[in-house]
Amino acid sequence: MRIVIVGAGQAGAALAAKLRALGHDGPLTLIGEEPAPPYQRPPLSKAYLLGEMEEDRLWLRAPGFWAESAIDLRLSTRVTAIDPAARSLTARTLTDGGETIPYDALALTTGATPRRLPASIGGDLAGVFTVRTLADVDAMRAEFTPGRRAVIIGGGYIGLEAAAVAAKLGLSATVVEMAPRILQRVACPETSDYVRALHQSHGVTILESTALDRLVGDTRVTAARLKDGRYLPADFVIVGVGVTPGTALAEAAGLSLDNGIATDEMGRTSDPAIWAAGDCASFPCQGARIRLESVGNAIDQAEAVAANILGAATPYQARPWFWSDQFDLKLQIAGLNTGYTRIVTRPGEGTATSFWYYRDATLLAVDAMNDPRAYMVGKRLIETGKSPDPDTLATTPDLKALLK
Ligand SMILES: Cc1cc2nc3c(=O)[nH]c(=O)nc-3n(C[C@H](O)[C@H](O)[C@H](O)COP(=O)(O)OP(=O)(O)OC[C@H]3O[C@@H](n4cnc5c(N)ncnc54)[C@H](O)[C@@H]3O)c2cc1C
Repeated sequence: MRIVIVGAGQAGAALAAKLRALGHDGPLTLIGEEPAPPYQRPPLSKAYLLGEMEEDRLWLRAPGFWAESAIDLRLSTRVTAIDPAARSLTARTLTDGGETIPYDALALTTGATPRRLPASIGGDLAGVFTVRTLADVDAMRAEFTPGRRAVIIGGGYIGLEAAAVAAKLGLSATVVEMAPRILQRVACPETSDYVRALHQSHGVTILESTALDRLVGDTRVTAARLKDGRYLPADFVIVGVGVTPGTALAEAAGLSLDNGIATDEMGRTSDPAIWAAGDCASFPCQGARIRLESVGNAIDQAEAVAANILGAATPYQARPWFWSDQFDLKLQIAGLNTGYTRIVTRPGEGTATSFWYYRDATLLAVDAMNDPRAYMVGKRLIETGKSPDPDTLATTPDLKALLK
Protein backbone atom coordinates (compact mmCIF):
# COMPACT_ATOMS: atom_id res chain seq x y z
CA MET A 1 0.00 0.00 0.00
CA ARG A 2 1.42 3.35 -1.03
CA ILE A 3 0.62 6.05 1.56
CA VAL A 4 1.09 9.77 0.98
CA ILE A 5 0.72 12.44 3.68
CA VAL A 6 0.21 16.10 2.74
CA GLY A 7 1.45 18.55 5.38
CA ALA A 8 4.72 17.91 7.24
CA GLY A 9 3.77 19.53 10.56
CA GLN A 10 2.96 18.08 13.97
CA ALA A 11 0.21 15.74 12.74
CA GLY A 12 1.90 14.72 9.49
CA ALA A 13 5.13 13.84 11.29
CA ALA A 14 3.28 11.82 13.96
CA LEU A 15 1.24 10.00 11.33
CA ALA A 16 4.29 8.99 9.30
CA ALA A 17 6.23 7.83 12.35
CA LYS A 18 3.27 5.86 13.69
CA LEU A 19 2.72 4.08 10.37
CA ARG A 20 6.30 2.82 10.51
CA ALA A 21 6.02 1.96 14.21
CA LEU A 22 2.90 -0.10 13.46
CA GLY A 23 4.79 -2.04 10.83
CA HIS A 24 3.76 -0.44 7.56
CA ASP A 25 6.70 -1.25 5.30
CA GLY A 26 5.33 0.01 1.99
CA PRO A 27 6.17 3.31 0.30
CA LEU A 28 5.52 6.33 2.51
CA THR A 29 5.83 9.93 1.37
CA LEU A 30 5.49 13.03 3.58
CA ILE A 31 5.12 16.29 1.66
CA GLY A 32 5.45 19.75 3.22
CA GLU A 33 5.56 23.18 1.69
CA GLU A 34 7.77 24.73 4.36
CA PRO A 35 11.55 24.47 3.90
CA ALA A 36 12.15 23.35 7.52
CA PRO A 37 11.87 19.70 8.60
CA PRO A 38 8.83 18.92 10.79
CA TYR A 39 9.01 21.10 13.92
CA GLN A 40 7.02 22.02 17.00
CA ARG A 41 5.19 25.35 16.88
CA PRO A 42 4.50 26.11 20.58
CA PRO A 43 7.99 27.50 21.31
CA LEU A 44 7.62 29.94 18.40
CA SER A 45 5.59 32.28 20.62
CA LYS A 46 7.46 31.31 23.81
CA ALA A 47 11.09 30.21 24.35
CA TYR A 48 12.20 30.50 20.72
CA LEU A 49 10.85 34.04 20.31
CA LEU A 50 12.44 34.92 23.63
CA GLY A 51 15.79 33.70 22.31
CA GLU A 52 16.02 30.95 24.92
CA MET A 53 15.76 28.00 22.54
CA GLU A 54 17.93 27.15 19.57
CA GLU A 55 16.38 26.30 16.23
CA ASP A 56 17.55 22.68 16.23
CA ARG A 57 15.55 22.03 19.42
CA LEU A 58 12.39 22.72 17.47
CA TRP A 59 12.83 19.67 15.21
CA LEU A 60 10.39 16.92 16.05
CA ARG A 61 12.83 14.19 15.03
CA ALA A 62 16.60 13.90 14.73
CA PRO A 63 17.70 14.87 11.21
CA GLY A 64 18.53 11.27 10.24
CA PHE A 65 15.17 9.85 11.34
CA TRP A 66 13.32 10.31 8.06
CA ALA A 67 15.83 8.57 5.83
CA GLU A 68 16.48 5.85 8.43
CA SER A 69 12.73 5.18 8.57
CA ALA A 70 12.47 5.07 4.77
CA ILE A 71 10.09 8.02 4.85
CA ASP A 72 10.37 10.01 1.64
CA LEU A 73 10.27 13.52 3.18
CA ARG A 74 9.82 16.19 0.55
CA LEU A 75 10.22 19.75 1.81
CA SER A 76 9.54 23.06 0.01
CA THR A 77 6.97 21.10 -1.96
CA ARG A 78 3.35 22.15 -2.27
CA VAL A 79 0.55 19.81 -3.21
CA THR A 80 -1.62 21.79 -5.60
CA ALA A 81 -4.32 19.29 -6.56
CA ILE A 82 -5.78 15.89 -5.70
CA ASP A 83 -7.48 13.68 -8.26
CA PRO A 84 -9.59 11.35 -6.10
CA ALA A 85 -10.82 9.31 -9.08
CA ALA A 86 -7.28 8.57 -10.26
CA ARG A 87 -5.97 8.34 -6.67
CA SER A 88 -3.12 10.70 -7.41
CA LEU A 89 -1.98 14.18 -6.53
CA THR A 90 0.14 16.92 -8.05
CA ALA A 91 3.15 18.18 -6.08
CA ARG A 92 5.22 21.20 -7.09
CA THR A 93 8.46 22.67 -5.86
CA LEU A 94 9.50 26.22 -6.65
CA THR A 95 11.53 24.97 -9.60
CA ASP A 96 9.77 21.97 -11.09
CA GLY A 97 6.65 21.97 -13.19
CA GLY A 98 4.75 19.49 -11.05
CA GLU A 99 4.94 15.76 -10.42
CA THR A 100 2.03 13.33 -10.31
CA ILE A 101 2.24 11.03 -7.29
CA PRO A 102 -0.13 8.06 -6.97
CA TYR A 103 -1.51 6.85 -3.64
CA ASP A 104 -3.54 4.01 -2.23
CA ALA A 105 -4.25 5.97 0.95
CA LEU A 106 -3.87 9.71 1.34
CA ALA A 107 -3.78 11.64 4.63
CA LEU A 108 -4.36 15.39 4.78
CA THR A 109 -2.58 17.10 7.68
CA THR A 110 -2.57 20.58 6.21
CA GLY A 111 -2.96 22.45 9.50
CA ALA A 112 -4.30 25.97 9.56
CA THR A 113 -3.28 29.44 8.45
CA PRO A 114 -3.55 32.60 10.53
CA ARG A 115 -6.25 35.09 9.66
CA ARG A 116 -4.78 38.32 8.36
CA LEU A 117 -6.15 41.82 8.41
CA PRO A 118 -7.35 42.95 4.98
CA ALA A 119 -5.05 45.19 2.95
CA SER A 120 -7.84 47.78 2.95
CA ILE A 121 -7.17 48.42 6.65
CA GLY A 122 -3.39 48.21 6.48
CA GLY A 123 -2.96 44.47 6.90
CA ASP A 124 -0.32 44.36 4.15
CA LEU A 125 1.94 47.10 5.57
CA ALA A 126 5.54 46.22 6.38
CA GLY A 127 5.99 45.56 10.08
CA VAL A 128 2.73 43.61 10.42
CA PHE A 129 3.29 39.99 11.41
CA THR A 130 1.42 36.76 12.09
CA VAL A 131 2.80 33.90 14.20
CA ARG A 132 2.47 30.50 12.61
CA THR A 133 5.66 29.37 10.94
CA LEU A 134 9.33 29.40 11.81
CA ALA A 135 9.81 31.83 8.91
CA ASP A 136 7.14 34.15 10.40
CA VAL A 137 8.98 34.26 13.71
CA ASP A 138 12.46 34.58 12.20
CA ALA A 139 11.12 37.56 10.23
CA MET A 140 9.85 39.32 13.38
CA ARG A 141 12.60 38.53 15.87
CA ALA A 142 14.72 41.55 14.96
CA GLU A 143 11.80 43.77 16.00
CA PHE A 144 12.03 42.57 19.60
CA THR A 145 14.58 45.07 20.88
CA PRO A 146 14.18 47.00 24.14
CA GLY A 147 12.23 50.24 24.03
CA ARG A 148 10.25 49.46 20.89
CA ARG A 149 6.46 49.54 20.87
CA ALA A 150 4.57 46.39 19.97
CA VAL A 151 0.84 46.47 19.35
CA ILE A 152 -0.81 43.07 19.42
CA ILE A 153 -4.20 42.68 17.80
CA GLY A 154 -6.10 39.87 19.51
CA GLY A 155 -6.07 38.74 23.13
CA GLY A 156 -6.00 34.99 22.56
CA TYR A 157 -3.21 32.67 23.68
CA ILE A 158 -0.81 33.46 20.86
CA GLY A 159 -1.24 37.24 21.15
CA LEU A 160 -0.82 37.10 24.92
CA GLU A 161 2.26 34.90 24.69
CA ALA A 162 3.82 37.32 22.20
CA ALA A 163 2.96 40.24 24.50
CA ALA A 164 4.63 38.45 27.41
CA VAL A 165 7.80 37.90 25.37
CA ALA A 166 7.80 41.55 24.29
CA ALA A 167 7.44 42.78 27.87
CA LYS A 168 10.11 40.38 29.12
CA LEU A 169 12.52 41.72 26.50
CA GLY A 170 11.91 45.34 27.54
CA LEU A 171 9.48 46.43 24.85
CA SER A 172 6.24 48.24 25.54
CA ALA A 173 3.35 45.94 24.65
CA THR A 174 -0.31 46.79 24.12
CA VAL A 175 -2.94 44.13 23.49
CA VAL A 176 -6.08 45.24 21.65
CA GLU A 177 -9.06 42.92 22.16
CA MET A 178 -12.42 43.55 20.54
CA ALA A 179 -14.38 41.29 22.93
CA PRO A 180 -15.22 42.43 26.47
CA ARG A 181 -12.38 40.31 27.83
CA ILE A 182 -9.20 38.59 26.71
CA LEU A 183 -9.49 34.79 26.19
CA GLN A 184 -13.28 35.16 25.99
CA ARG A 185 -13.61 32.52 23.26
CA VAL A 186 -11.69 29.88 25.18
CA ALA A 187 -11.82 30.49 28.91
CA CYS A 188 -13.98 31.57 31.85
CA PRO A 189 -13.93 35.12 33.25
CA GLU A 190 -11.86 33.93 36.23
CA THR A 191 -9.04 32.77 33.92
CA SER A 192 -9.23 36.01 31.94
CA ASP A 193 -9.00 38.00 35.18
CA TYR A 194 -5.98 36.02 36.36
CA VAL A 195 -4.14 36.43 33.06
CA ARG A 196 -5.04 40.12 32.72
CA ALA A 197 -3.71 40.86 36.21
CA LEU A 198 -0.52 38.97 35.44
CA HIS A 199 0.11 40.98 32.27
CA GLN A 200 -0.72 44.27 33.91
CA SER A 201 1.70 43.50 36.75
CA HIS A 202 4.42 43.23 34.09
CA GLY A 203 3.48 46.51 32.43
CA VAL A 204 1.49 45.16 29.48
CA THR A 205 -1.44 47.39 28.52
CA ILE A 206 -4.60 45.37 27.91
CA LEU A 207 -7.40 47.17 26.06
CA GLU A 208 -10.65 45.17 26.04
CA SER A 209 -13.94 46.02 24.30
CA THR A 210 -11.64 47.90 21.94
CA ALA A 211 -11.89 47.48 18.19
CA LEU A 212 -9.23 48.26 15.63
CA ASP A 213 -10.26 50.69 12.94
CA ARG A 214 -7.15 50.38 10.79
CA LEU A 215 -3.38 50.18 10.79
CA VAL A 216 -1.71 53.38 9.69
CA GLY A 217 1.50 54.00 7.71
CA ASP A 218 2.78 54.74 4.19
CA THR A 219 4.66 51.55 3.46
CA ARG A 220 5.43 50.53 7.05
CA VAL A 221 3.04 50.50 9.97
CA THR A 222 3.48 53.44 12.36
CA ALA A 223 0.28 53.28 14.42
CA ALA A 224 -2.98 51.50 15.05
CA ARG A 225 -6.09 53.67 14.91
CA LEU A 226 -8.87 52.40 17.14
CA LYS A 227 -12.59 52.63 16.47
CA ASP A 228 -12.93 55.06 19.40
CA GLY A 229 -10.57 57.47 17.59
CA ARG A 230 -7.44 56.81 19.65
CA TYR A 231 -4.07 56.24 17.99
CA LEU A 232 -1.57 53.75 19.36
CA PRO A 233 1.93 54.45 18.03
CA ALA A 234 3.50 51.16 16.91
CA ASP A 235 6.94 50.10 15.74
CA PHE A 236 5.43 46.80 14.70
CA VAL A 237 2.16 44.91 14.96
CA ILE A 238 1.38 41.26 15.62
CA VAL A 239 -1.97 39.97 14.46
CA GLY A 240 -3.29 37.03 16.49
CA VAL A 241 -6.93 36.79 15.55
CA GLY A 242 -7.35 33.09 15.01
CA VAL A 243 -6.77 30.65 12.19
CA THR A 244 -8.57 29.19 9.22
CA PRO A 245 -8.31 25.41 8.73
CA GLY A 246 -6.37 24.30 5.65
CA THR A 247 -9.26 23.01 3.57
CA ALA A 248 -8.52 24.41 0.09
CA LEU A 249 -7.10 21.17 -1.36
CA ALA A 250 -9.89 19.08 0.12
CA GLU A 251 -12.55 21.47 -1.10
CA ALA A 252 -11.17 21.47 -4.64
CA ALA A 253 -11.15 17.67 -4.54
CA GLY A 254 -14.85 17.65 -3.62
CA LEU A 255 -14.46 16.36 -0.04
CA SER A 256 -17.09 17.27 2.56
CA LEU A 257 -16.22 20.23 4.76
CA ASP A 258 -17.72 21.32 8.05
CA ASN A 259 -15.56 23.81 9.95
CA GLY A 260 -12.57 21.90 8.56
CA ILE A 261 -12.20 18.73 6.55
CA ALA A 262 -15.06 16.60 7.85
CA THR A 263 -14.06 13.12 8.98
CA ASP A 264 -15.91 10.26 10.63
CA GLU A 265 -14.81 8.97 14.03
CA MET A 266 -12.05 6.92 12.34
CA GLY A 267 -10.57 10.02 10.70
CA ARG A 268 -11.80 9.07 7.24
CA THR A 269 -13.10 11.84 4.98
CA SER A 270 -16.04 11.59 2.58
CA ASP A 271 -13.63 9.81 0.17
CA PRO A 272 -12.83 6.35 1.55
CA ALA A 273 -9.17 6.54 0.44
CA ILE A 274 -8.55 9.94 2.05
CA TRP A 275 -8.04 10.65 5.76
CA ALA A 276 -7.43 13.83 7.75
CA ALA A 277 -6.00 14.78 11.15
CA GLY A 278 -4.83 17.76 13.18
CA ASP A 279 -5.87 21.42 12.96
CA CYS A 280 -7.45 20.94 9.52
CA ALA A 281 -9.89 18.18 10.53
CA SER A 282 -13.29 18.28 12.22
CA PHE A 283 -14.58 15.09 13.77
CA PRO A 284 -17.52 13.75 15.81
CA CYS A 285 -17.07 14.05 19.56
CA GLN A 286 -19.71 13.54 22.26
CA GLY A 287 -22.63 14.22 19.95
CA ALA A 288 -21.11 17.31 18.33
CA ARG A 289 -18.57 17.98 15.59
CA ILE A 290 -15.42 19.68 16.80
CA ARG A 291 -12.03 20.79 15.53
CA LEU A 292 -9.17 21.11 18.01
CA GLU A 293 -6.09 23.26 17.59
CA SER A 294 -3.54 21.67 19.87
CA VAL A 295 -0.40 19.58 19.83
CA GLY A 296 -2.04 16.84 21.88
CA ASN A 297 -4.87 16.44 19.42
CA ALA A 298 -2.57 16.63 16.39
CA ILE A 299 -0.49 13.74 17.72
CA ASP A 300 -3.27 11.55 19.12
CA GLN A 301 -5.57 11.95 16.13
CA ALA A 302 -2.74 11.39 13.66
CA GLU A 303 -1.73 8.21 15.48
CA ALA A 304 -5.33 7.00 15.51
CA VAL A 305 -5.59 7.68 11.78
CA ALA A 306 -2.34 5.80 11.14
CA ALA A 307 -3.78 2.74 12.90
CA ASN A 308 -7.08 3.06 11.03
CA ILE A 309 -5.39 3.37 7.63
CA LEU A 310 -3.80 0.03 8.47
CA GLY A 311 -7.21 -1.44 9.33
CA ALA A 312 -7.59 -1.03 13.10
CA ALA A 313 -11.12 0.43 12.80
CA THR A 314 -10.79 2.09 16.23
CA PRO A 315 -12.78 5.29 16.77
CA TYR A 316 -10.68 8.25 17.85
CA GLN A 317 -11.42 9.34 21.42
CA ALA A 318 -10.18 12.90 21.94
CA ARG A 319 -8.69 13.67 25.34
CA PRO A 320 -8.22 17.42 25.00
CA TRP A 321 -5.34 19.14 26.78
CA PHE A 322 -3.46 22.36 26.14
CA TRP A 323 -0.93 24.62 27.79
CA SER A 324 0.33 28.18 27.60
CA ASP A 325 3.39 29.89 29.10
CA GLN A 326 3.23 33.60 29.92
CA PHE A 327 5.79 35.24 32.24
CA ASP A 328 6.04 32.85 35.20
CA LEU A 329 2.60 31.37 34.53
CA LYS A 330 2.32 27.80 33.38
CA LEU A 331 -1.32 27.42 32.41
CA GLN A 332 -2.46 23.84 31.82
CA ILE A 333 -5.91 22.97 30.54
CA ALA A 334 -7.66 19.61 30.42
CA GLY A 335 -11.07 18.85 28.93
CA LEU A 336 -13.47 20.95 26.86
CA ASN A 337 -15.40 23.68 28.65
CA THR A 338 -18.20 24.08 26.07
CA GLY A 339 -21.58 24.47 27.76
CA TYR A 340 -20.32 25.06 31.30
CA THR A 341 -22.79 26.49 33.81
CA ARG A 342 -20.59 26.92 36.85
CA ILE A 343 -16.97 27.62 37.83
CA VAL A 344 -15.46 26.20 40.99
CA THR A 345 -12.30 27.92 42.20
CA ARG A 346 -9.70 25.97 44.10
CA PRO A 347 -6.93 28.17 45.46
CA GLY A 348 -3.49 26.59 45.65
CA GLU A 349 -0.23 27.68 47.24
CA GLY A 350 1.38 30.99 46.23
CA THR A 351 0.34 31.93 42.69
CA ALA A 352 -1.26 28.53 42.11
CA THR A 353 -4.97 28.30 41.59
CA SER A 354 -7.36 26.30 39.46
CA PHE A 355 -10.74 26.92 37.87
CA TRP A 356 -12.99 23.93 37.34
CA TYR A 357 -15.77 23.99 34.75
CA TYR A 358 -18.98 22.15 35.57
CA ARG A 359 -22.12 21.65 33.53
CA ASP A 360 -24.59 21.15 36.37
CA ALA A 361 -23.00 18.28 38.32
CA THR A 362 -20.69 17.14 35.52
CA LEU A 363 -17.02 18.13 35.50
CA LEU A 364 -16.04 19.26 32.00
CA ALA A 365 -12.64 20.92 32.18
CA VAL A 366 -10.01 22.53 34.38
CA ASP A 367 -7.70 25.53 33.92
CA ALA A 368 -4.74 25.05 36.26
CA MET A 369 -2.51 28.06 36.88
CA ASN A 370 0.93 27.05 38.18
CA ASP A 371 -0.82 24.05 39.69
CA PRO A 372 0.36 20.83 38.01
CA ARG A 373 -1.35 18.68 40.62
CA ALA A 374 -4.77 20.21 39.89
CA TYR A 375 -4.12 19.68 36.17
CA MET A 376 -3.07 16.07 36.61
CA VAL A 377 -5.97 15.17 38.90
CA GLY A 378 -8.46 17.10 36.76
CA LYS A 379 -7.30 15.40 33.58
CA ARG A 380 -7.66 11.97 35.15
CA LEU A 381 -11.09 12.79 36.58
CA ILE A 382 -12.34 14.05 33.21
CA GLU A 383 -10.90 11.12 31.26
CA THR A 384 -12.47 8.62 33.61
CA GLY A 385 -15.81 10.45 33.66
CA LYS A 386 -15.70 11.21 37.40
CA SER A 387 -17.34 14.37 38.72
CA PRO A 388 -16.55 15.10 42.36
CA ASP A 389 -18.94 17.16 44.43
CA PRO A 390 -17.97 20.79 43.67
CA ASP A 391 -17.82 21.86 47.32
CA THR A 392 -15.60 18.94 48.22
CA LEU A 393 -13.37 19.69 45.25
CA ALA A 394 -13.00 23.32 46.27
CA THR A 395 -11.98 22.58 49.85
CA THR A 396 -10.50 19.11 50.21
CA PRO A 397 -6.86 19.19 51.32
CA ASP A 398 -6.19 15.93 49.46
CA LEU A 399 -7.02 16.41 45.81
CA LYS A 400 -5.61 13.04 44.81
CA ALA A 401 -8.11 11.29 47.07
CA LEU A 402 -10.82 12.34 44.61
CA LEU A 403 -9.40 9.88 42.10
CA LYS A 404 -10.19 6.86 44.29
C1 LIG B 1 2.80 30.15 17.81
C2 LIG B 1 2.00 28.94 18.17
C3 LIG B 1 1.96 28.51 19.50
C4 LIG B 1 1.22 27.39 19.85
N1 LIG B 1 1.23 26.97 21.15
C5 LIG B 1 0.58 25.84 21.49
C6 LIG B 1 0.62 25.36 22.84
O1 LIG B 1 1.21 25.98 23.72
N2 LIG B 1 0.00 24.19 23.10
C7 LIG B 1 -0.67 23.47 22.14
O2 LIG B 1 -1.21 22.40 22.43
N3 LIG B 1 -0.75 23.92 20.87
C8 LIG B 1 -0.14 25.09 20.53
N4 LIG B 1 -0.19 25.54 19.24
C9 LIG B 1 -1.01 24.81 18.26
C10 LIG B 1 -0.27 23.65 17.64
O3 LIG B 1 1.03 24.01 17.27
C11 LIG B 1 -1.06 23.14 16.45
O4 LIG B 1 -2.32 22.71 16.92
C12 LIG B 1 -0.35 22.01 15.73
O5 LIG B 1 0.85 22.45 15.16
C13 LIG B 1 -1.25 21.41 14.67
O6 LIG B 1 -0.55 20.47 13.91
P1 LIG B 1 -0.94 20.18 12.40
O7 LIG B 1 0.03 19.18 11.91
O8 LIG B 1 -2.37 19.93 12.30
O9 LIG B 1 -0.69 21.57 11.65
P2 LIG B 1 0.69 22.29 11.36
O10 LIG B 1 1.67 22.03 12.43
O11 LIG B 1 0.33 23.70 11.03
O12 LIG B 1 1.24 21.59 10.03
C14 LIG B 1 0.59 21.69 8.80
C15 LIG B 1 1.64 21.74 7.70
O13 LIG B 1 1.02 21.48 6.46
C16 LIG B 1 1.64 22.26 5.47
N5 LIG B 1 0.76 22.34 4.30
C17 LIG B 1 -0.47 22.90 4.24
N6 LIG B 1 -0.97 22.78 2.99
C18 LIG B 1 -0.04 22.14 2.24
C19 LIG B 1 0.03 21.74 0.87
N7 LIG B 1 -0.98 21.96 0.03
N8 LIG B 1 1.14 21.11 0.44
C20 LIG B 1 2.18 20.87 1.29
N9 LIG B 1 2.16 21.23 2.60
C21 LIG B 1 1.07 21.86 3.07
C22 LIG B 1 1.85 23.59 6.19
O14 LIG B 1 2.84 24.37 5.54
C23 LIG B 1 2.30 23.11 7.57
O15 LIG B 1 3.69 22.98 7.63
C24 LIG B 1 0.51 26.68 18.86
C25 LIG B 1 0.53 27.11 17.52
C26 LIG B 1 1.26 28.23 17.18
C27 LIG B 1 1.27 28.70 15.75
